[in-house]
Amino acid sequence: MKNNIEIRSKHLSVIIPVYNEEESIPHLHTRIHKVLAEQPFSYEVLYIDDGSSDGTLQQLNRLVEQDPYVRVISFRRNFGQTAAMSAGVAYSRGEILVFMDGDLQNDPVDIPRLLEKLEEGYDVVSGWRKNRQDAQWSRKFPSMLANKLISQVTGVRLHDYGCTLKAYRYEVLRHVRLYGEMHRFIPAYAALAGAKVTEMVVDHHARQFGKSKYGISRVVRVILDLTTLKFLGSFGTKPLYAFGVTGLSSLSLGFGTGLYSLLRACLPGKKKGQRSALFPISLLFSSFGLLSLISGLIAEMLTRIYYEAQDKPTYVVKQVQPESSLRSPLPG
Ligand code: UDP
Ligand code: MG
Repeated sequence: MKNNIEIRSKHLSVIIPVYNEEESIPHLHTRIHKVLAEQPFSYEVLYIDDGSSDGTLQQLNRLVEQDPYVRVISFRRNFGQTAAMSAGVAYSRGEILVFMDGDLQNDPVDIPRLLEKLEEGYDVVSGWRKNRQDAQWSRKFPSMLANKLISQVTGVRLHDYGCTLKAYRYEVLRHVRLYGEMHRFIPAYAALAGAKVTEMVVDHHARQFGKSKYGISRVVRVILDLTTLKFLGSFGTKPLYAFGVTGLSSLSLGFGTGLYSLLRACLPGKKKGQRSALFPISLLFSSFGLLSLISGLIAEMLTRIYYEAQDKPTYVVKQVQPESSLRSPLPG
């Protein structure tokens, strides 16, 4: 790594949301420690336990006892990865923040490379999992579509918004409020606010322990986030997913039955002018679907106004370890 004064004088906070990752944590921390102990700057590693029900918190508390550079923020229940990241920002003390996953899929070896790129004058360096080690159809394909869509809507051209491994100058995150699956939009949000954003190819490993916390439903949520984002003209909202899912399912059912009855009507053997009984059903589902979607968008805007007006946090903290670290300066 280059010996640049700017980065040397800055503190680094590595922020890692974890939810039921008891097996990965000891391995991950050993790797992080190995990489960061060799660096010339002071750092802290913030683990956010997102309401895990396995031995994750015990593992983290063990780390706190062993390593003075570790801090643990634990939530009362599972609030989601984005809420955990937002708590990480709130509790961090570094001027540079690096986010990464806690399941060993991101590689700590990439952290100095991201920082080096920041040194070149960027405010955000976003990881690009070019050799992503995840399932093709359930993960990589929907991600590819989502990335294209986000890129179109926001005008910020990145290949891999979903990669958690990213480095930020704290300045660009200070005023960002995170909801839903919004963490992937931070680079776009920052770019709109004038930040210099770039991306860098990072390593990616297959999950070794435990299992992914996400399925195909996340694609729907990301699309909803993106839709409301477009409608609201800005970022920072938590969609009422129920409306969206009901609306979309009903709409698809409406279209499906409509298409089916249309095809049947076109088949030979059908008398001309004879209407299918499915048409009214199709109409009903389609209109209900559309109405649900519109209600969802309105509810969305209300939710956003509600949260913004009250400055309501999206998570509840149970414990911060070590307690003394709440205000003390970074070690090192
Ligand atoms: N995670 C979290 N809260 C959740 C779901 C996930 O903090 O509700 C964490 C999880 O422990 C991991 C990271 O977010 O450190 C990414 O999750 P996962 O590996 O399941 O996602 P994938 O890599 O499959 O996209
Ligand atoms: Mg993962």
